[in-house]
Amino acid sequence: MPTYDYECQTCGHQFEARQSMKDPHLTDCPVESCPGPVKRKIGLGSGLIFKGSGFYITDYRSDSYKAAAKSDAASSSSSSGSSTTSPPASPKPSGS
Ligand SMILES: [Zn+2]
Repeated sequence: MPTYDYECQTCGHQFEARQSMKDPHLTDCPVESCPGPVKRKIGLGSGLIFKGSGFYITDYRSDSYKAAAKSDAASSSSSSGSSTTSPPASPKPSGS
């Protein structure tokens, strides 16, 4: 079943809807407090748009990235202070 991308004309909320091609286009925004109509975003000529699912994967990944970065920063900050043995940064030759 094809997945269609919709975008709300009022609040800008974007979402996907799996619909049959026979089904009428959605018109109501899924945000309950938003009365705005939604507009279907036309894909690149193909009815099957798997790009949409990637949106969620990217979103999930960025979330895990933030968690990883957060724990990394916490562990490094807690261990730092006792001894930071970092080699002196050697200046890179600029140009040739
Ligand atoms: Zn809306």
